[in-house]
Amino acid sequence: SKTVARIAAGEVVERPASVVKELIENALDAGARNLDIEIKGGGTGLIRVSDDGCGIAPADLPLVFTRHATSKITSFDDLTGIMSLGFRGEALGSITSVADVELLTAVANAPSGCLVIRRDGRTSDKPAARTRGTSISVSHLFKAVPARLKFLKTDATETGHIVNVVSNYALARPEVRFTLTVDGRRSLNTPGTGQLRDTAAEILGRETASRMIDVEAAAESLSVSGLAAPPDAGRANRTGLFFFVNQRWVKSPMLSRAVEEAYHGLLTVGRYPVAVINLTLPPADIDINIHPAKTEIKFHQDNRIFNFVRQSVRSALIGESP
Ligand code: ADP
Ligand code: MG
Repeated sequence: SKTVARIAAGEVVERPASVVKELIENALDAGARNLDIEIKGGGTGLIRVSDDGCGIAPADLPLVFTRHATSKITSFDDLTGIMSLGFRGEALGSITSVADVELLTAVANAPSGCLVIRRDGRTSDKPAARTRGTSISVSHLFKAVPARLKFLKTDATETGHIVNVVSNYALARPEVRFTLTVDGRRSLNTPGTGQLRDTAAEILGRETASRMIDVEAAAESLSVSGLAAPPDAGRANRTGLFFFVNQRWVKSPMLSRAVEEAYHGLLTVGRYPVAVINLTLPPADIDINIHPAKTEIKFHQDNRIFNFVRQSVRSALIGESP
């Protein structure tokens, strides 16, 4: 029923930033190198994500809004070795149950693209022109779910959550060019050079990025790479830490503590570290939370990873080889 679909959708679509996250993940899974994101009114007015990925073939279009239909995974075993970001086939179905959606897509060498309009539970489609890739526009988010609308904060706060999501994915994928336009104003524009420092310049500031120290270490199956700001470039709050595991954005209090300990005794009192840390390890050594809307992670060898990250960052900061 509609109600059941809307309740279930709440698990994936908590707020506008969750929609942005899911659409970005789909675009990255489609191999996009250019990703343009536009929002209005904190995301409740409009969210549009356009990519130059592979597009969706006409034959696959009837399936994309069907929950649990996904093209990305064939067996449960794949979950441990998962490389794509999406794997539950829930995002688009959930989004369409709480918003109006327009999807314009085209694959390479097709005579035409296709525009699919999904409004008030009805779907229509027609041929439409587009270069290869997909644009998805989401409007009237939560208009049929007043309880969700009431839970949302101000437009400025919701916009802040979206900027945070886009910043994280941009840092995770320096080879992809991201733009974010907020209420008609360009708010982010990463160059997609493949150099983390270039993306960091846009997101953390040119001055900080130019002074950041390379973090680079490997031990057996574990490796870390990234950038750490010098201690005198610390922030007045805890918003400066970014973690990615196998290119997936994760939140981990353990990793935050490891980096904070690496800066111990070096930072001015009341200042917090700024760092972008990429960890690579065998997928079998982690549990990615299979809840699609969450970014939590569990490591099987917590202590080993804690020590490795703390030591690697510490060595970089004090100029010693690890
Ligand atoms: P999942 O990502 O878990 O497969 P979604 O509901 O997020 O499920 O997306 C459903 C399907 O729609 C995807 O499996 C993919 O085939 C297709 N799709 C969605 N967004 C895009 C996109 N930007 N480019 C290409 N295909 C897409
Ligand atoms: Mg997805």
